[in-house]
Amino acid sequence: MNIKLSLAFLWIFCSGTYLLGQAFVPKIERSFTVVIDAGHGGHDSGTVDKNGRFEKNINLYVAKFVKLYLNKFAPDINVILTRDTDVFLPLERRPLYAKISNADLFISLHCNHNPNSSAQGAEIYLQNTHRKDVILNLRQAARLALILNRNLEQKLNYRSRGVMRSNLQVLRESIDYVPSLLLEMGFFSNSAESSYLNSKKGIKGISLSVTKSIIEYFESR
Ligand SMILES: [Zn+2]
Repeated sequence: MNIKLSLAFLWIFCSGTYLLGQAFVPKIERSFTVVIDAGHGGHDSGTVDKNGRFEKNINLYVAKFVKLYLNKFAPDINVILTRDTDVFLPLERRPLYAKISNADLFISLHCNHNPNSSAQGAEIYLQNTHRKDVILNLRQAARLALILNRNLEQKLNYRSRGVMRSNLQVLRESIDYVPSLLLEMGFFSNSAESSYLNSKKGIKGISLSVTKSIIEYFESR
């Protein structure tokens, strides 16, 4: 085989491989990574409302819708779900998703319960710590919390009890790696709020508020 012919075969081979690579290798390097943690799962149903509906399902539905909406409206954001089915996942495993993926945000989704059935509204939690080595992550988490609080109240017209601090395991064990917050989406112990959270309108409304807040957060970095 002469040199010209060899080069021609090499070019065809290389360009074919390149094109195949482009066509079949998924785009895995994206600008930002957010971990969405649907609380509870499997035998751990979370709180239960008076109609026997489980918190774990709403947490999962919202997590999946947030992923769907982010994929649609902000495809540069890589979304990782700690669970995408009804499985039990221990608390200590959840922050590891943020650590291993080198994520830029961690958001844990829950629904609330209170013995007083009139209690209602979302609550947004940040880790309660004075550690100086995590102050940058805390500040960024607080920034997202304020964006989310504003979107829930002003865009969704949803009641919010505001941004709070607490010592919660998923936040305590994730704040080292990533800005993290926990959203209590509303009270299962309040009939009207539980009906809303268990409706398509409620799931989509909360999901859009979370999605919009994530996009705003990354856009204003
Ligand atoms: Zn919960």
